[in-house]
Amino acid sequence: MTAATRFKRVLLKVSGEALMGRQGFGIDVAVADRIAADIAEARALGTEVSVVIGGGNIFRGVGVASKGGDRVTGDHMGMLATVINALALRTSLTKLGIEAIVLSAIAMPQICESFSQRVALAHAEAGRVVIFAGGTGNPFFTTDTAAALRAAEMGASALFKGTQVDGIYSEDPKLNPHAERFEQLTHDEVLQRGLAVMDVAAVALARENHIPIVVFSIHEGGGFAKILAGGGRSTFVSD
Ligand code: UDP
Repeated sequence: MTAATRFKRVLLKVSGEALMGRQGFGIDVAVADRIAADIAEARALGTEVSVVIGGGNIFRGVGVASKGGDRVTGDHMGMLATVINALALRTSLTKLGIEAIVLSAIAMPQICESFSQRVALAHAEAGRVVIFAGGTGNPFFTTDTAAALRAAEMGASALFKGTQVDGIYSEDPKLNPHAERFEQLTHDEVLQRGLAVMDVAAVALARENHIPIVVFSIHEGGGFAKILAGGGRSTFVSD
């Protein structure tokens, strides 16, 4: 099966942490440019790509709550952070001559269009990279859950989750070098073993909608396209 048939349309989840590169905070433009180049490579294989972007490089709601602040306000701040990242990724894609559109779950018409499934599908069908900002638009959720939700709404054939390492491990391989790496798992196994790759809501939503999750390293330039082409390193989570 070629990438074009196996992965006609995919949803890529990029965490805020990935955009930060080696900096402690914010956006490393060189990293955003490299991720944009990875998306360009994937498109060249005939795969339609849309993106859900995180915000953890700028703000996380739980951080506010843990310091005695209001969780809902903190989550609003986190969702705004994802919009900043989305604008950065759109800029990087535009530099490569790729048309990209930011759709936010929270209306901010002076900055970007608002999300609706109809608008998102129309942009994707017109060949644009759709970047989903604002998470789900609700507090107490994560952008991982937003990624599973948008993957279902877009009819994506897979959810690609770019992480710090090249797949799912039994434990954090940076803390335990002997951690077991999995090639393939089911959604149920991820949930039952409590593997900390995505939150439970995200994995459950992907399971209910029979959407495979492909976990790979966002730091390996070209890694995304390699997997689409049938190679590369990843953990494949399916029914
Ligand atoms: N967030 C939220 N609802 C959502 C998605 C995100 O409230 O549907 C907030 C939440 O505070 C979260 C922050 O936005 O901590 C940034 O998102 P996330 O932590 O998922 O980003 P990532 O870890 O992928 O960088």
